[in-house]
Amino acid sequence: METKQVAQVIDLNKCIGCQTCTVACKQLWTDEKGMEHMWWNIVNSMPGKGTPKDWETMGGGWKDGNLVYGRLPSKKEFGEAWNFNFNEVHYEGNKDKVQFKPIGDRPEWGPNWDEEQGAGQFPNSYYFNMPRLCNHCSKPACLAACPTKAIYKREQDGAVLIDDSICKGTKTCQMACPYKRIYLNEERNVSQKCIACFPRLEKSVAPACVRQCPGRARHFGFLEDENSQVHKLVHKWKVALPLHPEFNTQPNVFYIPPILPKTLNADGTINEENPRVPLSYLISLFGNEVEYSLKTIATEREKKGNSELMDLLISRKWHDMFKPFHQSPV
Ligand code: SF4
Ligand code: SF4
Repeated sequence: METKQVAQVIDLNKCIGCQTCTVACKQLWTDEKGMEHMWWNIVNSMPGKGTPKDWETMGGGWKDGNLVYGRLPSKKEFGEAWNFNFNEVHYEGNKDKVQFKPIGDRPEWGPNWDEEQGAGQFPNSYYFNMPRLCNHCSKPACLAACPTKAIYKREQDGAVLIDDSICKGTKTCQMACPYKRIYLNEERNVSQKCIACFPRLEKSVAPACVRQCPGRARHFGFLEDENSQVHKLVHKWKVALPLHPEFNTQPNVFYIPPILPKTLNADGTINEENPRVPLSYLISLFGNEVEYSLKTIATEREKKGNSELMDLLISRKWHDMFKPFHQSPV
């Protein structure tokens, strides 16, 4: 059987950073003991240190055809779960005398700790939201690094899964994944990560993060299906790009780069030359192809209502965004 590949395209111009995708995933898959610190899907503010902290510098992936074992992120870098003094505030008659605060040691880092900080100087400061999850890579470094062969890639949809009856918790997959999207469940000593909502895919239902997105920022489908929106955005229009292609794992999550407004001059007039997000920063994330992507989007926007690309990005028909995975989950 020929391997088919599901893919996501996430439009960073439409993601509002609401974390609905994050919560939808959490409620479905990571609400058991040992999974408290897991956020298989997380939305980071960019530029920022991300989840885990400074993950972009930890290494992994492939270099010159060789597998790279990067650094293992610590639980502290992921940001451990903590609780708040809900009882004290809500039920102990303290009225306005106490405020919410974490119980125990004050946390120093969390999953999206630097939310909405961004970069740049007012009035030209900026940030954008970037959902991050396992890319179900075509060349998964995690799979190659697993000494027990617990990680496999399914033929029917390309989902990269971990068989936790075989996993021994060696954490080598975590070292090799350059996106640092694998967590260790210490209760069970197994590695766990996004499963592409495969039980939903088998019923032609889109993953929860895709279907629940109120921003309609996520397209989903088979990458090789010429009728799918993901195929059109990645291969036909070439406007959706993988994050850090230099990691060489051939990710299957793609992003429409942010356009954001132009900068303002000191007198408040618009500077037509400089984009709000420095092009060099976007190139560092998505490679040189980002220039072509941004130019294509700008050209098509000028066509004012007569552009297939704009129709795709506007997504007037919600179900079309994830066909053939458009069945209702209930
Ligand atoms: S649910 Fe959609 S809009 Fe909200 S953070 Fe996730 S991708 Fe962005
Ligand atoms: S993103 Fe990481 S965990 Fe997911 S398939 Fe790629 S290498 Fe493996």
